[in-house]
Amino acid sequence: MKKVIKNDDDYYKFEPITLNDSLSNLKKRLSVMNFGKIPIAKINNRYTMTKQTRDFFKHYDIILQKLPFIKYKTIEKCNNENIKKDGNLSSLIDLISECEKQKYPFDIPLIYDKNASIEYGAFRPIYIGEHKKDMQLIFSEYILTNKLSELTSGIYAHEIIHSELENANAIKSYLNYEVLPIFFDKLVSLYLDPSKTLLQKNELLRLKLLFKSLILLEKENLSSFESLNISMSITSLLKSENLFNKFIYGTNNDKIDMINDIQNIFDGNYYLEDLLQKNDITFDNSQNYKSLTKHI
Ligand SMILES: [Zn+2]
Repeated sequence: MKKVIKNDDDYYKFEPITLNDSLSNLKKRLSVMNFGKIPIAKINNRYTMTKQTRDFFKHYDIILQKLPFIKYKTIEKCNNENIKKDGNLSSLIDLISECEKQKYPFDIPLIYDKNASIEYGAFRPIYIGEHKKDMQLIFSEYILTNKLSELTSGIYAHEIIHSELENANAIKSYLNYEVLPIFFDKLVSLYLDPSKTLLQKNELLRLKLLFKSLILLEKENLSSFESLNISMSITSLLKSENLFNKFIYGTNNDKIDMINDIQNIFDGNYYLEDLLQKNDITFDNSQNYKSLTKHI
């Protein structure tokens, strides 16, 4: 298993965002947008869906790193056996290590959840260990909704990006947790449909979510967990849109450069925050309504 040393004190240490004038203005402008019902076309072929995601990564020449993998059922089994044996955490870690395999993300099995909504996807990192400095990371199956649609290939890419980032321990602040996964699911939308219709639907769904999160900011008595997650969700969404526009309106060389930097992130040589800094992406300069709604 891979050892990860996450400094939780820094990772979760930030001032939750508040509804300042500029966010308030953004909220007002989003409130008059007509989100309506966004029509999402269904597809029914799992093979086509996964092939689209594979082809997308090939198109951009992105090499994904292998991840330590274990079947979720095996973890449950190890846990039961360990409880019977001595209930000791280090013997559980040994048991799990014996079953661990290194797999490329596309070789990690997918579980299709019939109870999940059309936009659902998840990756499953499992941290095992008693002390932060000894924490070990292993991944289990990806989960996707069984309601396949034109969005699912992008959702699959989104979850793969999460797992690669977690594996590389590449994010310094939880506020930026969703920046790159959202960036990638939008890029898949554009790759699948260069006419930007699918991208438009994707962005409308994101803006709807942004609007909801901005409303939540006004709620009193938010728990610290809620305010942490709302702050992350708003920050990530805004920065992601900014980064995405820098990419698609950049020159070919700019694009190659950014993909190289992203590759370096997965390889563990670069932090996500380095990429944001290099492209001058900040929370303050990512609240531009015009740029946020550029494709809509
Ligand atoms: Zn995500």
